[in-house]
Amino acid sequence: MQHTASRRRLSTGTPGKVCPQEAGITPGRVPPQEGDGTTGPASTQETDGTPGRAPTQEADGTTEPASTQETDGGSGRASPQEAGGTTGRSILHLDQDSFFVSVERLRNSALAGRPVIIGGTGDRAVVASCSYEARHYGVHSAMPMKLARQLCPDATCIRGDMERYSRYSNLVTSIIADRAPLFEKASIDEHYVDITGMDRFFGCSKWAAGLRQFIIRESGLPISMGLSVNKCISKMAAGEAKPNGQLEVAGTGVQPFLDPLSIAKIPMVGAKTYNRLRHMGIATIRTLRSIPPEVFEHMLGKNGREIWWRANGVDNSPVQPWSQQKSISAETTFESDTINMAHIGDTLLRLCEQLCFRLRKQQQLTGCVSVKIRYANFDTHSLRQGIPYTAFDHVLMPACKELFRRLHQRRMRIRLVGIQFSRLVQGAPQLSLFEDKPEMIQLYQAMDRMRRKYGTKAVRRALAETGRDRQYGT
Ligand SMILES: [Mg+2]
Repeated sequence: MQHTASRRRLSTGTPGKVCPQEAGITPGRVPPQEGDGTTGPASTQETDGTPGRAPTQEADGTTEPASTQETDGGSGRASPQEAGGTTGRSILHLDQDSFFVSVERLRNSALAGRPVIIGGTGDRAVVASCSYEARHYGVHSAMPMKLARQLCPDATCIRGDMERYSRYSNLVTSIIADRAPLFEKASIDEHYVDITGMDRFFGCSKWAAGLRQFIIRESGLPISMGLSVNKCISKMAAGEAKPNGQLEVAGTGVQPFLDPLSIAKIPMVGAKTYNRLRHMGIATIRTLRSIPPEVFEHMLGKNGREIWWRANGVDNSPVQPWSQQKSISAETTFESDTINMAHIGDTLLRLCEQLCFRLRKQQQLTGCVSVKIRYANFDTHSLRQGIPYTAFDHVLMPACKELFRRLHQRRMRIRLVGIQFSRLVQGAPQLSLFEDKPEMIQLYQAMDRMRRKYGTKAVRRALAETGRDRQYGT
């Protein structure tokens, strides 16, 4: 275990924002390529002066308060989160700034400081990510590319490359995995780390700042960081620290931090909810929490009360360990053991189709596919492969088919086939597709609508009748 974090120049105990210059962005190393049958993120080398792996947490639950630092404006008033017993935690949120754009800038430094828009290049494609310079013109994610180009004609438009972004995403995950006791990958560019109890060894702020700097140095990518007593506040703190900054909100500083913020900053408040609340005259978190929670519950159901709690700085959701993060799987045992390859192939693709639909329904992307074969004698084999993050059948079906081809070695009847998608992260599927084929997205949306309405088997891909001419994944 390395205890070098305390020697680092970073964060000498003063909470607050770190200026972007401090980060000293330099092109980092190129992330490793995904190899065949990868079993996890590539490991990174330890270097001197990097934050060492944190000690694993003790189970006695007698952790110290989240942070010993007072922030300005701490009112001393007991807040619900203090009453609710969540003050013992230290949760770090790491969020990369305009991630896709930053990766493109590593490749082409001429893009620095310029408005950049990433997405499909066709007129009907959507914006997947844009630089802060482009945002000043009103461009934002999920906007049609055509409109974005009209708003910001000087922007450099780049067709995204999900494979490259996935490699950098996995590089950052591997750096965190090497050092953090407990972390969750929330999306392709966001991680939560539970560093509760760390202050007894290093000091949470120093360790977290050290980790952030190490990620910046190794990846060359800007990243913002929030450190606070729960996931919601640390995410909001990282949002306020952007771009490329860090912000710590100690337990006593939570309410002073939240109160002046717009209700739009609460992660659960989407555009629709925001508009409804604004119509009630609620603009800031301070106003929202002064209203009894029953009002919001009546108006928005269970979410309404949850939003009220968040406004009061309460969020008990745990950091979900990456190793246990959800995967989804499906398998079929054949009625009788078979060597009918056409039938086996069809079954595999149906399973893939079902899982892809579930991914999109849950607004998730997968970064790893695994295929399983059980032979008639119950010998079971599986093979997995890291892939660029996606939720689309036409990407995942060929991957499943190829894994099956490599895995299927024996001339024995097959009893069962199965597929698993793992390394799931949150993310809108259309943002992982950079083709000039909006029709493809529209087709998926139409098919998924029908499945939601009439059941998962309502729509299926037409597969050729003969195995020989079969076209997979088209
Ligand atoms: Mg981000």
